[in-house]
Amino acid sequence: MVDRVWRGTSLTATDLQERRVLTEKWRPEAKYEWSTGESMSRFLAELKEGRLVGRKCDKCQLVYFPPISFCRECFVRTGEFVSLKDTGTVETFSISYLDTDARRIEEPIFVAVISVDGASEKMGFMHYLGDVEKDDIKIGMKVKAVWKPKKDREGAVTDIKYFKPSGRR
Ligand SMILES: [Zn+2]
Repeated sequence: MVDRVWRGTSLTATDLQERRVLTEKWRPEAKYEWSTGESMSRFLAELKEGRLVGRKCDKCQLVYFPPISFCRECFVRTGEFVSLKDTGTVETFSISYLDTDARRIEEPIFVAVISVDGASEKMGFMHYLGDVEKDDIKIGMKVKAVWKPKKDREGAVTDIKYFKPSGRR
């Protein structure tokens, strides 16, 4: 290995902090946009309308939820979008005394992995549970989505406020 000796004087962080050398701060006004892709775009657009869609693989018949564009089993493009109900089954859940910023909270939040009716097995969808007491949450419990009012929906998974035990008002 050859050690290179560069001409000039090395700068330290202190040289910059104490402005011993000429510095300039420049904050770019960068704006970003990106496409969520064919399947996720449709999924989000349907959420805004209060609907859930999956996508079916024509080769193996798996119904993916949320929808994806390529089958993970067959490595082929998935086919048609499939309308799903906004009901499902709790596969597993967690009672959390930390909020989404990892701060301690007095009242727990309930997070569950839900199998949405009409999707294939093991297509768990993670979301909140609500309108339920923590001791009443069970694996296998049937749940239904509680949607935000249409005017408040923005094409995001949070357009569903939470899932509640079904059969209740
Ligand atoms: Zn497939």
